[in-house]
Amino acid sequence: MQTFDTDLFVIGGGSGGVRAARMAAQRGARVTMAEAGGTSGLGGTCVNVGCIPKKLYSYAAHYAESFEESHGFGWNAAAPTLDWSKLKENRRTEISRLNGVYQKMLLGAGVEIINAHARLVDAHMVEVAASQDGQSVTKLFRAKNILIATGGWPHVPKFPGHELVLTSNEIFDIDPFPGRLLVVGGGYIACEFASIFNGLGTKITQLYRGVQVLRGFDDDVRNFVAAEVIKKGVDLRLNTEVASITKTANGLAVQLQGGESVTVDAVLYATGRVPNVANLGLDQVGITQGSDGAVVVDEAYRTNVPSIYAVGDVTSRVQLTPVALGEAMVVVDQLFGPTAGKTPKKMSYEFIPTAVFTHPSIGTVGFSEAEARKEFGAVSIYRSEFKALKHTLSGSDERTLMKIIVDNATDRVVGLHMVGADAGETVQGFAVAMKAGATKAIFDSTIGIHPTAAEEFVTMREPVTNT
Ligand code: FAD
Ligand code: NDP
Repeated sequence: MQTFDTDLFVIGGGSGGVRAARMAAQRGARVTMAEAGGTSGLGGTCVNVGCIPKKLYSYAAHYAESFEESHGFGWNAAAPTLDWSKLKENRRTEISRLNGVYQKMLLGAGVEIINAHARLVDAHMVEVAASQDGQSVTKLFRAKNILIATGGWPHVPKFPGHELVLTSNEIFDIDPFPGRLLVVGGGYIACEFASIFNGLGTKITQLYRGVQVLRGFDDDVRNFVAAEVIKKGVDLRLNTEVASITKTANGLAVQLQGGESVTVDAVLYATGRVPNVANLGLDQVGITQGSDGAVVVDEAYRTNVPSIYAVGDVTSRVQLTPVALGEAMVVVDQLFGPTAGKTPKKMSYEFIPTAVFTHPSIGTVGFSEAEARKEFGAVSIYRSEFKALKHTLSGSDERTLMKIIVDNATDRVVGLHMVGADAGETVQGFAVAMKAGATKAIFDSTIGIHPTAAEEFVTMREPVTNT
C-alpha cells in the first residue's frame, strides 16, 4: 500500500490555495502548502499586489475630489496635500497584518506551511527548495492529491526599452511619487490605475491599442466610462501603441507608433497576465497546457493527471478572486466531502458580477447588449443617465449610467450595468436577483429605496429600444 506524507499538497498560497488548504484541513485532511513569496506574504496577488492594496489606493484617490466637493456643502478649507510615503507605509502595515491573519488561520486549521518554491516531480511527488540556516535544501513530499494554485504574472511585450517599465507588481511602491505617468493597456488594471493615480494628482496619459478601452464590456459602459475619466483629466489616447522607450535627463521618452512622443516619469504596463508556471515541473509530469501555458483542467478542476488539480488564475479562465475561491471550494468538497449537512459545492460561470474600480466605477453582471442580442435575439434595453443627487451641490460634473437588458421571450433581466459611485456595491445585490432568474416584471414590482442612485434600476419603465 502506498503511504503519503500528506493528503493534499497545495502549491501557492494565494486566493485559491489558501481557501483550499484551510477548508481541506478543517475537514480533517492532512494539508501541506508551499508559498514561494513571489508576491510577498501569504494571500497571493489579491492581498499583496492586487485587489486589496488597489482598493486602498482607490479610496485614497477619492479623497482629492471629496475635499474639493465639500466646498459646495459649506466646508471651507484649502485642499490638503498627499503624503505618499505615509500612504505606502500604512498600506504595507495593513497588508502585513493580513498576511499574519492568513498565517494564523492556516496554522490554526492545522495546515503545514512551507515558505518555498514547489515543483512537481511526478503524479504524487512535490519537491520544495528552501533555504535553511543559509543553506539551500530540497525536500520531497509524497502527496495523495496535489492542487496547483500558482496564479498569474504580469505580461509585458518585448520592444526596445521594455525593461524600463513597471508592472502592477511594482507600482504600489513607486518612489518618488510620479508627476507624470504613462499607462499602457485598456483592461481592468490599466483603467483602474489610470483613475487612481489621476485622483492622487499624477498627470496621466493612457494608451490603448484598440478603438475603446475595456473590450468585452457593454459598449455603452465603455464609451461612458471613457468620457467620464477624460472629464476627470486622464489623457486617453485610443488606437495608439508604443514603439520604444528611452531614458533621458528629463524622464522616460516614449516614442509612439504614429511618430509622436510623450515624456513621463514612469510607465506602467498593464497588458494582461500569464499563468505562473515557471519551473513548476509541468513538462516532467506531462500536464497538458494551453497555448498561453495555462494548466488545462476539466469541469472538476482535474488535470490530465488524475491526482493533480488546478484552480484560479493559473487555469487562465476568469481571473477574479471570488472565482478562485469558488473553484477551490469545489475541489475540497470533491476530495474531502462537503461540510456536514451540505451538498457538494458547484461552480457556475453564469452571471458572475464584477466591478472595475475606475473613477467613477463600473459594476456589471450578465450579458452586454451585443452578447445578449447574439444569445437571445430580441431584447429590450432600458437606459438611464443622470447626475447623482450629491453632485447637485458638489460642483462635480460626474454622471451616472444605468442599463438593463431584458430577454423579450422570457422577460428575464439578462444584463445589468452601472457606471457611477459604488457601482460594485450596488450591482452585487442585483446579481443575486439575476441568478435567481428575476424578470423585468419583478424589478418593476420592487419598491425603490429613496433617495438612492440604485432605485433607478427598479424604476426604469420605458425601453429605449425593444427589438
Ligand atoms: P494568486 O493569488 O496569484 O496566488 C498564487 C500564489 O502562488 C502566489 O502567492 C505565488 O507567490 C505562489 N506561487 C507561484 N508559483 C509557486 C510555486 N511554484 N511554489 C510555491 N508558490 C508559488 N480580482 C478581484 O476579484 N477583484 C479585484 O479588485 C482585483 N484586483 C486586482 C488588481 C490587480 C492589480 C491584480 C494584478 C489582480 C486583481 N484581481 C482582482 C485578480 C485577483 O488578484 C486574482 O484573480 C487572484 O489573486 C487569483 O488567485 P490565485 O489563487 O489563482 O493566484
Ligand atoms: P486585461 O486582460 O483585463 O487587459 C489587458 C489589456 O492590455 C487589454 O486592453 C489588451 O488589449 C491590452 N494588451 C494586451 N497585450 C497588449 C500588447 N502587446 N500591447 C498593447 N496592449 C496590449 O488584463 P489586466 O492586466 O488589466 O488584468 C488581468 C486580469 O486581472 C483582468 O482580466 C481581471 O480578470 C483581473 N483583475 C480584476 C480586477 C477587478 O476585479 N476589479 C482588477 C484588476 C485585475 P486588447 O483588449 O486589445 O486585447
